Amino acid sequence: AQRVAVPRPTRHPAAEVEIFGHVIDGEEVPSADGATFDSVDPYTGAVWARFPLGGRAEADRAVAAARRAFDEGPWPRMTRRERRTLLNRFADLILERADELALADTRDMGKPITQSRGNDVPRTADNFRFFADHAQLTAAETLPMDSGHHAYTRYEAAGVVVAIAPWNFPMMLESWKVAPALAWGNTVVLKPAEDSPASATILARLALEAGIPPGVLNVVHGYGPDSVGEALTGHPDVDRITFTGESSTGRVIAAAAAQNLTPVSLELGGKGANVVFGDADLDTAVEWSTKAIFTNAGQVCLAGSRLYVHRSVQEEFLRRFVDAADAMVSGDPKDPTTELGPLSSATHHAKVRGYFDTIEAEGGTIVTGSLGDGLFVRPTIVTGLAEDARHQREEIFGPIVTVTPFDTEDEVVGLVNASPFGLNAMIFSENLSRAHRVAARLTVGTVWVNCFFIRDLRAPFGGVGDSGVGREGGSFSREFFTEPKAVVMQI
Ligand code: NAD
Repeated sequence: AQRVAVPRPTRHPAAEVEIFGHVIDGEEVPSADGATFDSVDPYTGAVWARFPLGGRAEADRAVAAARRAFDEGPWPRMTRRERRTLLNRFADLILERADELALADTRDMGKPITQSRGNDVPRTADNFRFFADHAQLTAAETLPMDSGHHAYTRYEAAGVVVAIAPWNFPMMLESWKVAPALAWGNTVVLKPAEDSPASATILARLALEAGIPPGVLNVVHGYGPDSVGEALTGHPDVDRITFTGESSTGRVIAAAAAQNLTPVSLELGGKGANVVFGDADLDTAVEWSTKAIFTNAGQVCLAGSRLYVHRSVQEEFLRRFVDAADAMVSGDPKDPTTELGPLSSATHHAKVRGYFDTIEAEGGTIVTGSLGDGLFVRPTIVTGLAEDARHQREEIFGPIVTVTPFDTEDEVVGLVNASPFGLNAMIFSENLSRAHRVAARLTVGTVWVNCFFIRDLRAPFGGVGDSGVGREGGSFSREFFTEPKAVVMQI
């Protein structure tokens, strides 16, 4: 197979370091004790931005600001139409400042600029537009009762929402939480991941510029344990916690939330299964399987990292899949021709390298792929691993896919469902009945048939088992970010 050389990153140690603050109550501020942390560009290896390191003091300050804005400010008291207008203005500004936002995520975590600029920015703007529309246009229920009474539902804003986000799709996943929370009249404290803090700060600045009142969207920076994350999730004056991140972190946050009986939504890790049946269109299957595992260098919760291929097409599929993987262009994520950037940080690269180094010891064969220079990992395809190998069971979160043959539909359904994760699966088949039948049997939150990552924002999104608790999207977000109330009237 043809190998594509990975260019050596150039270092820019003298580059200017940009300074960011927390955004609390409409002001950009440092931490009370002056502590800071740096964001390192994983391609250049240089510090590009500096952020205040928040702690309990900043968590208290941000929650108090959000509480004041909720209890006394105009935001929850506006009509949905007024909020919709402001959120659409916010979305307009996001598109106007697309280059700045995209570059922020690309420098923070190495995502190719074509993805941050071409996908993440427009989807961030779309999330604000969609939830602004949804909050105004969806109907509530009316329930005429046999007794002659009449019941109806009201969806009241829940209050102060804490949103904790991961680094793999920084602004896009933040907006997926912030947009419905704001559209329903809540106020928010957002803590972006420490590896990707810049775009959240820019979003908070743009929200103010759009006319969203101070205190409605606050952003605080810092780590999770013993830091601002822990202080926020254990805070008694918070009404909702929405978290996306690792399953192990989800367990810690659920325990913290339980102390205050704060409702929590958990979008956690995945080990996406990708099933290619013997009757699949192989061009479609190869194209989407390549995107499913190598997009964002495999740092996708939905990544199709366990690939099951029917034995009758295994050889042909693998040949084409290896060619597609080898053709992917690694390089500077700021270069628009780059398809694969470095991994997000040295720490994450060390974790993925640990998996890479043990493939052969676990009985696997590396069909293609290698460690590259710096923090790069080339697309890696592995065969021959047993189902109980770590690589088959654990979330690697890198561009490494295991390929396993199967013979029957029952067998592959069993293999997919054996994972403790249940976020998503993909099915490739030209047999309609089979596709529906198998989709119904898989214990996952989303099944994609002959595609991957296509989203309708009205659809439920979330996972089964270790992949999460609850669903977000459309009315599912409304259920979480409001207090649904029943009013029963004697007519
Ligand atoms: P992570 O769990 O390490 O961190 C996520 C966030 O939680 C960060 O902001 C971090 O600072 C914070 N945090 C960590 N410990 C905390 C604590 N004790 N209290 C409060 N906050 C805490 O996850 P990550 O490495 O940033 O992201 C990768 C993970 O996210 C993967 O497992 C991936 O599958 C998952 N993910 C899931 C989805 C989904 O929709 N299900 C989407 C994207 C990513």
